[in-house]
Amino acid sequence: MRVTDLSKTNSLVNQYLSEIRDVHIQKDRHRFRKNIERCGEILAYEISKKLTYEVKEVTTPLGVAKVPVLKEQPIVGAILRAGVVLHQGMLHFFDHADNAFISAYRKHNADGSFEIALQYLSCPPLQGRVFILADPMLATGKSIVTTLEQVFQHGQPSHTHIACVIAAQPGIDWVLKKIPDVSIWACAVDAELDSRAYIVPGLGDAGDLSFGSKIQR
Ligand code: URA
Repeated sequence: MRVTDLSKTNSLVNQYLSEIRDVHIQKDRHRFRKNIERCGEILAYEISKKLTYEVKEVTTPLGVAKVPVLKEQPIVGAILRAGVVLHQGMLHFFDHADNAFISAYRKHNADGSFEIALQYLSCPPLQGRVFILADPMLATGKSIVTTLEQVFQHGQPSHTHIACVIAAQPGIDWVLKKIPDVSIWACAVDAELDSRAYIVPGLGDAGDLSFGSKIQR
């Protein structure tokens, strides 16, 4: 399946999402980050079911157990800054993963429109590897498409997974139109964006809620 909406399952993720979205509870910055991390853990666990495993023989005090372990480690990427917390949650589960960091932000014009500015990219060779990109809010999809186009210049992954807390349907449509061969994993899918391209009902600004407000550029 190309798009997985975890809110459609009976999962604790819905409890964490209800706290993340709640305009009062989300003011507790520590709790907000903790819940985003938990979403990262759950997303990592769900994505892990699609990866490839090989059997390893493990010596226990009483014998030898055959245990399926990951055949290869994924590369887990974070889009700065909002992706940092979700990425950290994913690393709790993919604890041997390689990592990538990309700074992509909305550069606003005087008329309120914006372009995606990409300033920093650090990543290992991607050719043939599984790449998981952590971005909590898939809104227009433009930063994800810009990021993936840049990242793919470092090699073509065997598969790319996009992990989000909330994805907006227009953004999902945009990403799949531009880069059809990706899997999108969302803790919830919302229908629309407002005039500033924020997800509605969404949760607000994930970066500001995690780290505090910033100077608008
Ligand atoms: N980024 C956010 O943090 N929130 C949105 O709703 C859209 C983009």
